[in-house]
Parts: sequence; structure tokens; C-alpha cells
Amino acid sequence: MERKSFRDQMEALQNGKAIFFASFDYELKEDEQLLSDAVFPLCARSDRHAEAALRRAGLPVTQRDIEILISEPWPRLYKAFQERRDPLKSLQLLRRLREPGPSANATTKPTEPGGPTLSDMHGYGGLIDWGYDLAKDLTDYKAGVIPWGDVDGGVLISGPPGVGKTMFASALANTCQVPIIFGSVSRWQEAGALDEHLKAMRASFAEAKAKAPSILFVDEVDTFGDRSERDRNGLYLRAVMTGFLEQLDGFERRVGVVVVGACNFPDRLDPAIRRPGRLDRHIEVTLPDAQSRRSILKFHSGIVLEPDQAEQFDLATEEQSGADIEQLVRRARRLARRQYEDLGAQHIVGQLRPLAPLPDGYIRSVAVHEVGHAIIGSEVGYSHVAGIKISSYRIDGEYREMGSVEYEPPTPQRKTRAHYENWIAVCLGGIAAEIEVFGSFADGAAGNSNSDLNRATDLATALEGALGMGHTLMVGQLDEREFASMRTYNPDIRREVHKVLEKELGRARSIIREQRHVLDEMVTRLMEARAMSGDEVLEIIHRNRRSTVSLAKTNLKAGM
Ligand code: ADP
Ligand code: ZN
Repeated sequence: MERKSFRDQMEALQNGKAIFFASFDYELKEDEQLLSDAVFPLCARSDRHAEAALRRAGLPVTQRDIEILISEPWPRLYKAFQERRDPLKSLQLLRRLREPGPSANATTKPTEPGGPTLSDMHGYGGLIDWGYDLAKDLTDYKAGVIPWGDVDGGVLISGPPGVGKTMFASALANTCQVPIIFGSVSRWQEAGALDEHLKAMRASFAEAKAKAPSILFVDEVDTFGDRSERDRNGLYLRAVMTGFLEQLDGFERRVGVVVVGACNFPDRLDPAIRRPGRLDRHIEVTLPDAQSRRSILKFHSGIVLEPDQAEQFDLATEEQSGADIEQLVRRARRLARRQYEDLGAQHIVGQLRPLAPLPDGYIRSVAVHEVGHAIIGSEVGYSHVAGIKISSYRIDGEYREMGSVEYEPPTPQRKTRAHYENWIAVCLGGIAAEIEVFGSFADGAAGNSNSDLNRATDLATALEGALGMGHTLMVGQLDEREFASMRTYNPDIRREVHKVLEKELGRARSIIREQRHVLDEMVTRLMEARAMSGDEVLEIIHRNRRSTVSLAKTNLKAGM
């Protein structure tokens, strides 16, 4: 040891430069420190390293591969990634060896008695109900109460990666108390040339049949018929596709096997797969909404966030999938472990992407603006307010709305000029309130086609130039792209649009002035809670309306 280190030192001195590696817990001796120009601690592999490595190799960055790269022991990685081997091939080898079960074909997972069931699943929309119906059907089928033909034996689940399609299938099997067999189009393909490929596919179906009643999960069914490959690989793909349809068809041969197909891009699917009797029911799973994301967080961590933390979580995890949230929990758990603490809400919040808290004054101005919309909306009877939300944080470098008013879905009605005028007034309600409270309005109200002023301008243009509800029945097309040129080239329209906007802003402002106490009360409420339900909004408006009315009566009696 000593001698070797001496030789190393000599070599370093001779060559003028050298790099020494030591394990992480190695303590540098004094002379080693003297010898070194610089000492760098190298930290453990992280997701970011794995991501960079995948990018560098020109491979798609997927959660699954990142997971492989950071969890596989180094010696296995060395063996898999050999110099002259295509990195994709190396990854495929690792992926295959990580699949559950001792061999590539044994893909059944016994349903774990304690495994999650449908009641643990959140964020799946209509899929959960379908799952419960299936569970009931399968129970009845097992009991001999209904024939197989009455069981809904095929479903297609589509949705972005990581929304939990695979996980749903497991939970479904646990709920139905039947075994599940995992197949996937790409895994079958990995088995080898056409023959092997078909054989692997049939083996999955055969296994499912042998264990019937059972669920066969088939991932990536949209990769069968990739249009771009159809020409190049046409014959091959058709053979595989035919093989798959054969397995799906003829329920005699598929008695007791429920096939759950999953894919990311349902429109890339060969339509033949969705014909009646095959995967004829299609249920789309979207990215989970805020409520579901919180439930998913609870599912993976047991943690329920406090309101302020929940607000940050909702915002920072917008557009994220269940897999992203699971990943977040994993990072938080790692952080907690490193700090010798039990996982807590603070670790979760600590792993969220950074949010900047908004100053109170700014939040208040957003609240005033949104309340303005809500008050005009309910005063002119445009539509019922379903809720108001404002945000306390913002994500750096990201444009998003800081507040919003949600309306109940409109009931069908005659839309006369008055309706459009009301609509315009509602659009202008936000800046009307800002003007009444602050004397001016801020720039958020204009800019893109969805902004308040742009919408109001287009609506007014429609009245005058496309709906025949202005000063002439002569109309152009009801097409927003036409509106700008109508305003540019037709001075009459231009003038009328301006007049309508001015009139409606005036009306909105006077409503706000009359309802100023309502506005103040709602703003105070929003500043406390950051959100109000439609019922709360109505309650405040009605309470104040009653007192205004009784005030009017008293005044009347007093002879005013
Ligand atoms: P998909 O099949 O849609 O790509 P997966 O089922 O493979 O997604 O999801 C990957 C992981 O993400 C799951 O193992 C699970 O831990 C987590 N996950 C995804 N969606 C959910 C959800 N709705 N609830 C809880 N966990 C989820
Ligand atoms: Zn607005």
C-alpha cells in the first residue's frame, strides 16, 4: 500500500500531472493534501447525471431509464455498457433483466393481498367506475351467475406516460382478485425475429388463458401500427398485427381473459384494434387535477399538506403526472434520510420547483380584478360564478394567470344584443374594479387573444360587423381573424366598437361603485383564503343586496 502510493507519487511528479481517485469516506493524509493542486468531492449519481448521460447517447429520457442508471450497481453498468455496443442495446439488456420474474416470459405478478386496490386510486376519472363494474361482472362470472359474453372483456386506456395506466391495471386485478399478466408490444418485439416475436405474444395470451379468469395488460398497443413505419416494415407489422387480432378475437379462445390495452397516442392506433369485441371501450386518462395530485401524494407518502403548503404544491406540480409525484416523494424521502429525519411535509415542499411568493399588494390587486369580474357577472345575470381563485406564488419565468373566476356551464339561451353587451361588461369588470379602487388598471388585461380587453374588443366587433346586431344588418364572417381587419379598414365599425366598449366600461364601473362594500368584503375574504366557492360569492352578494333594498325602502318612507 505504502509503496504503491509512493510509486504513484513519483509518477505524478514525473509526469507533471495525475488524477487520483479515492472512495468517498477516505480521509486525505497530510502529504497527499500537499501533493494535490485541487481536491474535488464527487457526489453520488443523481437523476440529473442519468438524464445527461441519456441525452448524450441520443436516447430518449424516460423515468424508467433514469431509474435504471441511478440504481444499477456500477459493475453491472460497466458490463452492460461496453465500448462497441450500442448504448440502446445495453439499456435494453438492463431493462429486460429488471423485469419482474425469473425469465422474460414469466410476466405474471401474483396479486399481492395487501397491494393497492381501486379504492386507493385517484385521478382516473371514469376509469375507476368501469373498474368496479368489471369487478362485479367478474365476481358474477366466477359464481356462474352471468356468461362470459356479458363481461366487458376489453378496454383501451390512453394517456400520457406516467399517469398510472400500468398501476391502474394492477389495482384492478387486486380489486377483482384475479391474476394479472403483463405484456407489452415492445417487450414481445425484443424476443427476436418475427417468429420469436409472435411466440412471445402468444405465450402471454396463453398464460392469461391458463390462469383465467385473469387480466392481460398489454402496454404500448399504439406501436403496432406506427404509420411512419408502415411502408418500410409493412409486411412485418401486418403479420404481428394479425397475430394480435387473432388472439383478441373469437371469445371462445379468450374466455375469462380481460384484455386491458394501454397507449399514449390513441390516434396512432390501428382502428382494427378497436372494433367491437376487441378493445372496443376507450377510456382516456388525463394528467391529474390538483385534488388528485394531493391524493396521489398522500398515497405515496401518507402526507396531507397544510393549506399554504398545498397551494405551493398545487402550483409547482401543475401538468405533472402521478409518476412525477412519486418521483418527488422519492427525492423528499432521500433528503429526509440524509438529514436523519422522518419524511414530513417540509421535505416535500423542499423538493418542489422554486416558487416566488408574490407581495401582498400585488395579490390584492389581482383579487380586486377577479372580484370585479365576479360582481359584474352576477349583477348582469350573465352566468353563475362557480368560484374564484387567486395565487400567492409565481413560478419564475413562466407566464400564468394569477387569478381566475370560474363560471357554471351556461344554460342554452337566446343570445341577443343585450346578452353580448353583458358579456362585454363581464370582460371589462376586472379593469372596472381596478379603476374604481386604484384609479388605473394594470397590463394583465390586454395582450393576447384571451385577455379581457382583446375579448371585449372582439365581442364588440362581432356585434357590429358579424352578427347584424349593431347599426347595420350587413355582416361579414364570424371569424376572429377577420375582426382585426374589419376594425382597420372600416372606420364605422371602429367607431362603434369604441362606443360599445366605452359604454360597457361605464356601466361596469357604476355597478362596482354601487357594490363597493361587496367588493371589499370579497377581497378581504380572498386575501384570507385565496379562494372562494360560488356559494360564498352568492352569499355575500345576496346579503348585501338585501340590505341595499331595505335601505331603499327606509329612504322611500322617509320621503326621499
Ligand atoms: P403509465 O403506465 O401510465 O406510464 P405507470 O403506471 O407506469 O404509468 O406509473 C408509474 C408510477 O407512477 C407508478 O408506479 C406509480 O407509483 C406512479 N403513479 C402514476 N399515476 C399514479 C396515480 N394516479 N396514483 C398513484 N401513483 C401513481
Ligand atoms: Zn380579467
